Amino acid sequence: MDPLSKPRADIDRLDRELVRLLAERLDAVREIGSAKGRDPSAPLRDEERERNLFATWARTAEEQGISSYFAGRVLREVLNWSRRDQERFLEPAAKNGPRAVRVGYQGVPASYSDLAAQKHFATRDVARLERIGFRGFAAAVDALEAGEVDYALLPIENTIAGSIDEVYDLLGSRRMTIVGEEVWAVEHCLLGLPGARAEELRVVRSHPVALLQCTRFLEGLVGVRSESFHDTAGAAEAVARDGDRHVAAIASEEAAREYGLEVLRRDVANQATNITRFLLLAREREAFDPRRPARTSLAFAVNHRHGALLECLNIFEAHALNLTKLESRPRPEAAWEYQFYVDFEGHADEPRAAEALEALRPHVNHMQLLGSYPRRAEEALELAGRGRVPTNAGADLAPSSDHDVVVAPLKVPACPAVKVNPSLKLTTRREGQPNTIVDVSGVAVGGSRFVLALGPCAVENRAQVLAAAEMVKRCGASLMRGGAFKPRTSPYAFQGLGFEGLEYLREAGRAFELPIVTEVLHPEDVEKMAEKADMLQIGARNMQNFALLKEVGRARRPVLLKRGMSATIEELLLASEYVLAGGNQRVILCERGIRTFETATRNTFDVSAIPVLKSRTHLPVLADPSHAAGRRDLVIPLSLAAAAAGADGLIVECHPNPAEALCDKEQALDAEDVAELVARLRPVVAAVGRTL
Ligand code: PEP
Ligand code: MN
Repeated sequence: MDPLSKPRADIDRLDRELVRLLAERLDAVREIGSAKGRDPSAPLRDEERERNLFATWARTAEEQGISSYFAGRVLREVLNWSRRDQERFLEPAAKNGPRAVRVGYQGVPASYSDLAAQKHFATRDVARLERIGFRGFAAAVDALEAGEVDYALLPIENTIAGSIDEVYDLLGSRRMTIVGEEVWAVEHCLLGLPGARAEELRVVRSHPVALLQCTRFLEGLVGVRSESFHDTAGAAEAVARDGDRHVAAIASEEAAREYGLEVLRRDVANQATNITRFLLLAREREAFDPRRPARTSLAFAVNHRHGALLECLNIFEAHALNLTKLESRPRPEAAWEYQFYVDFEGHADEPRAAEALEALRPHVNHMQLLGSYPRRAEEALELAGRGRVPTNAGADLAPSSDHDVVVAPLKVPACPAVKVNPSLKLTTRREGQPNTIVDVSGVAVGGSRFVLALGPCAVENRAQVLAAAEMVKRCGASLMRGGAFKPRTSPYAFQGLGFEGLEYLREAGRAFELPIVTEVLHPEDVEKMAEKADMLQIGARNMQNFALLKEVGRARRPVLLKRGMSATIEELLLASEYVLAGGNQRVILCERGIRTFETATRNTFDVSAIPVLKSRTHLPVLADPSHAAGRRDLVIPLSLAAAAAGADGLIVECHPNPAEALCDKEQALDAEDVAELVARLRPVVAAVGRTL
């Protein structure tokens, strides 16, 4: 008889008993979890008790003559899973009982993403989990946006390979929110057909990153060629399908089970610790129990200016927020400019974080809250024995609970003396708050330089807009205007050249080094126009087009927001609040005349709006004398009045040949008028302490 058969039978029996005991232990854990769920004031972790457990296990282990280190490791796993298992009791109970969930991931069954999805939902209150594999990350996000899945689980970083750029770029450009995270400890195995031997292999297939992570092992396999596959489990699937015993895959042990392969070697990676962090993405925010430790992810862009990033980081420091990650990605629409991604500990709704986010706004061009969600990444460190688990050895080194990690004295910026209307909280100038300077592709608006934006009412053809650009450049203006899409009162009037006009305008702007500003009429055009225009104009007729305001709030371009012809100053400010609240901090306001009983002018230029706006908001204010007057002869006097009243600049219509203008010809300046405008502005601008 085989001398090993009896001890092996003992082990099998004991293992069954161990698993049964774990299940029984988990039942007790769930009873506690359910009690914690019912009592929102109960703490989630009893650290004193955890310390005692470690001490008891260590003592018992020593009594039994086994290593207390070994017992501690096992307990760590057990406690960690117990805590996760209790989370199901903390979820808000679904109305009709546990729900069926569809989660999208990149890859095929048993890929690391699929395994992480299974792990994530194993301890959540779901009735049925449907896992749907997609070819790429973007396809999973498409399905999420289209409502074909409820969640997408995508990898965001790996402890060896680093950040996954494509997923960062999707986060910055798509409409979704992060509602959770998951970690998976990757253990690469060599998988072959049943009965295959490592010595006879000729080809090893896997994802290129996995192959790179196993170079030392692969170099030891003489004469073996590596073959790249789109994913590790896909490689395993192909090995099983091809049925060639000279071909193996590097993938997870679970992939071996899924595709009927055998693990030929375990742990073939160069580094022992190889953890991937995943983000769970959804269409809407999800509330979660405030007792759970949270993480918040944020994206923002800053001006290309000395110290801009440091100012932002200082705000996190001043609010004692612990940053866990900082990542930068290039912005495709602006060379050498970056979008930053920050993760910090805490929930965006906690006062400390909310204050920090408000304080951040004036320092960024754009800001997008990507989500606040329960933190799980530290779990991987706990399992590696480097986490914040209380141990019997270091009782006084044990960390404080998650919600009072105040490590630095709070240096919160001074509160405003006057009470700010909460509906205008982002637009209002707080006491002592400096002017916001808006960067329009290198032109600063709102600073000491008085800015001129000149150009035709409408882009009519390529030659016209090139001639106009030359005129604009010659007079020293720094921005060029021109309507490609025209909102016309009459449906029979010239409606603009649309995207073709935008191409001409951009060509002219490039040729004469003038950033261009042009009006956007439709929410669905915003993204496409933002690729070409340096600034997006919201016209008077659209000042309260809230769908359009929300859309430009998401855009990565500054916005010129014109006052509606019957809008109060308050309404203009509320409209700007929409854009700021959408994340876009680069808003410039524009007074362009309002409707009154007076008919001598096209509109009535409300010069008092300029100083009123300048005191009520920190945003720059331009004036448009052309649409206010509707008459060429009034454009210069109104321009002088605007400059004297404190405007930050002007937007004025001009045309190489006004008599032939297709739109607003009565108010267009010709080259001579423009020269006169500039000459007469100079002393007025100097008188108010600015330069032209
Ligand atoms: C314009 O600037 O081209 C325009 C149409 O102006 P408003 O929206 O102020 O009428
Ligand atoms: Mn016009």
